[in-house]
Amino acid sequence: MLQFYNTLTGKKEAFRPLDPASKKVGLYACGPTVYNFAHIGNLRAYVFADTLRRTLEYSGYKVKQIMNITDVGQLTSDADEGEDKMVKALRREGIPLTLEAMKEVAGKYEAAFRSDLRKLNINTSETQFPRASEHIAEDIELIQILADKRYAYKTSDGIYFDTAGFPEYGTRGGFRLGELKEGARVPVNSEKKNPRDFALWKFVKEEIGWSSPWGKGFPGWHVECSAMSRKYLGQPFDIHTGGIDHIPVHHQNEIAQSEAAYGVPLANYWMHSEFVTVAGGEKMAKSEENFLTLTKLFFDEGIMPLAYKLWLLTAHYRQRLDFSVKAILASQSFYKKVLTQLNWETASEQVNDHYRKEFALAINDDLDTPRAVALVAEVLKDESLKQADKTMTINEFDKVLGLNFQGMARKLKVIPESVQKLSAAREAPKTSGNPTRFAKKSAPPASKSWTPMTVLSSGKDYNNRSHPVCPYFLFTKYPAACGEVF
Ligand SMILES: [Zn+2]
Repeated sequence: MLQFYNTLTGKKEAFRPLDPASKKVGLYACGPTVYNFAHIGNLRAYVFADTLRRTLEYSGYKVKQIMNITDVGQLTSDADEGEDKMVKALRREGIPLTLEAMKEVAGKYEAAFRSDLRKLNINTSETQFPRASEHIAEDIELIQILADKRYAYKTSDGIYFDTAGFPEYGTRGGFRLGELKEGARVPVNSEKKNPRDFALWKFVKEEIGWSSPWGKGFPGWHVECSAMSRKYLGQPFDIHTGGIDHIPVHHQNEIAQSEAAYGVPLANYWMHSEFVTVAGGEKMAKSEENFLTLTKLFFDEGIMPLAYKLWLLTAHYRQRLDFSVKAILASQSFYKKVLTQLNWETASEQVNDHYRKEFALAINDDLDTPRAVALVAEVLKDESLKQADKTMTINEFDKVLGLNFQGMARKLKVIPESVQKLSAAREAPKTSGNPTRFAKKSAPPASKSWTPMTVLSSGKDYNNRSHPVCPYFLFTKYPAACGEVF
């Protein structure tokens, strides 16, 4: 039985889809604001959504997944004050303030984000990525309904949602709010009737924005998720995901405005992933500029993206994870072990039934990925299993873990240890030194004049950078794999 922790009720519950007969499930994940590169802490929420989608698919569901791209209108924090993040990006990059320029900047960071997802083997072939800038009409329609139903009021800087009209605000399960001290988190806005009221539309004066019945401006950030999830998935839909930081404000506000406008729940299950923290337990955040990207992790620390994904999966998604290069490198050597100890070219054999059942139990129990990863290790060292069966069994787990073991082994032409040992034994009388280390000695293909350094400097943001370690050396004969795979 599939069960998830539902923030809405604050409990673990059996998953019951809205339409059990069709086995279709609607999944909405709050996507990125594309004003900068994604940092690895952000990416945890998308790895989590990937595991969730794969788990549902493993149970036979057909998942329709929507991930919004915020390319307009998000303010610098959950508060309604401050400069728009996209406007800030234009200023930072010295670009004129026009909607076209904003689209261009957003396009650049959206492409970088989608490339990060690919590196993490997050399959998006069935995922739609609606952009906020292309759904302003839907936002206006929602705000108009709220205005007509008297849930909205106007101040000098925008249109606000009146939380007093929605008594359920902040009262449900994990969404329950404590006392909010005005000014503690949300700056005081004397025109707001209640400190928890939030902007549906913000006016702009001379700068860029969209026309609306209330004046030129931007939709409030929360509005786009309500408008787009309804458009693509209907209302209610099955599961809404996001980072844990979205609970008190963003998701609370999505629920309030969607339910107030349409009188039905927005989503039946709400699932949230925890933070990756940095030294001192602080949240990694791109607005605070203390962030690490996948590219930086690769070139500075020699950590491949899938090793980072594996490290994330060693913790439960509702568990906070402290960033540690040492711990991620340990995951990377485990990844290497899985690739090199098995022969991924083996023809199909049997998935071990005992382990298959154990795996399903783990993953169906609110995505217990630490247990699932431990099972990979157990299969690997189980001497009662044939090599080929181990490969098949781990490949089966990989449908959910999404670590692309077989694909990477093939791409990197990984030579299994058993074959390496065999060939080493054959070569031993002819060579001195340590023949098992041939992988590092072997020259790159003659037709291409690759060297480790030219390969490493192929990373766009890392021209002229050099690093002694290409992580793919660990797996493959040719350093060229660094450039090809990353
Ligand atoms: Zn959202």
